[in-house]
Amino acid sequence: MSPIDTLINTTIRSDVRSIQSYHVADAGGFIKLDAMENPYELPHALRQQLGARLAEASLNRYPVASYATLKQRVRATLGVPAGYDVMLGNGSDELISILCMACARQDRRAVVVAPTPSFVMYQRSAQFAGMDYVGVPLRADLTLDLPAMLAAIAEHRPALVFLSYPNNPTGNLFGADDIVTIIRALDGFGLAIVDEAYEPFASDTFMGRLPEFANLVVMRTVSKLGLAGIRLGYMSAAPQLLAELDKVRPPYNINVLTQIAAEFALEHVEVLNQQASALRAARADLAAAMAALPGVEVFPSAANFILIRVPNSDDAYAKLLSRKVLIKNVSKMHGVLTNCLRITVSTPEENRAFLDAFAASLSA
Ligand SMILES: *Cc1c(COP(=O)(O)O)cnc(C)c1O
Repeated sequence: MSPIDTLINTTIRSDVRSIQSYHVADAGGFIKLDAMENPYELPHALRQQLGARLAEASLNRYPVASYATLKQRVRATLGVPAGYDVMLGNGSDELISILCMACARQDRRAVVVAPTPSFVMYQRSAQFAGMDYVGVPLRADLTLDLPAMLAAIAEHRPALVFLSYPNNPTGNLFGADDIVTIIRALDGFGLAIVDEAYEPFASDTFMGRLPEFANLVVMRTVSKLGLAGIRLGYMSAAPQLLAELDKVRPPYNINVLTQIAAEFALEHVEVLNQQASALRAARADLAAAMAALPGVEVFPSAANFILIRVPNSDDAYAKLLSRKVLIKNVSKMHGVLTNCLRITVSTPEENRAFLDAFAASLSA
């Protein structure tokens, strides 16, 4: 063994050495429908104004550590209930990791429970924090298996239960009553994290219900709303709970450029909301068009992506790639997703280009 291999084997954890790094496909030259990005940019005039604001940033100074202005804007713009604060993260990915670090007690087994398939970072963050992860399979129709969730909660007494609402990669909203039952089942020992990354495209939210539940955390991100590049997530919960979680947050985790860009974008949130509205309309059109194709099953979506099942997902994926369309092949993620593909909803033009390539890939 070479000296560097020996060094790695003696320093890096074996569970880290044995996993693959998080794979992100290189999308140069492709129609990019794999990552739930908003295809629309800010209008040119707003981008010019943003440029002027960013030019005033004090890059030589640390950010103002309270983030009071940005947090106030998030609370005022995004429906956070009165008396509730938010904690900001470098993407909600960082908030997931912070929750796990804060709850990964070492004096006894600390567990994360989540339905599976769901967002992969729940499992990864749990593992990196040294927690056990218990995935509870969805039913074949991709709905939440509530009895199995409650059994897992009773058996493992998890510190954290992550519920993606709507769920990624399936796109559906779990039953709100089922989520309430899970929050109640955790009462006294566990936190329910309702991850509303796709809230701009959904018809429901738990944000306004925070005062009902001491153990509810509502997490969101501006990524899917159209600001994936700036990396900003936020979460809200009971103030005392948020204060504890905030101790784990790195002090300057939101950089000044993100801070300025987010404040600016939220001043013009109606532009982003309008883009989300266009994407919701495009989602209905795209779903209907795909459902009309032979052999394609379209699952209901409350997000800015659509899950479908095709006769041969690997074949369809490869043929789309050869036509320079990048989607996500989720067929190997879990048994319930056999032959499933996930397509991000985009502009009418890109959706049309996808549909043409997709129809050709099914017949060829
Ligand atoms: C995309 C996504 C996130 C991550 O959002 P970032 O803020 O970009 O880190 C979190 N949760 C779910 C369910 C997602 O799909």
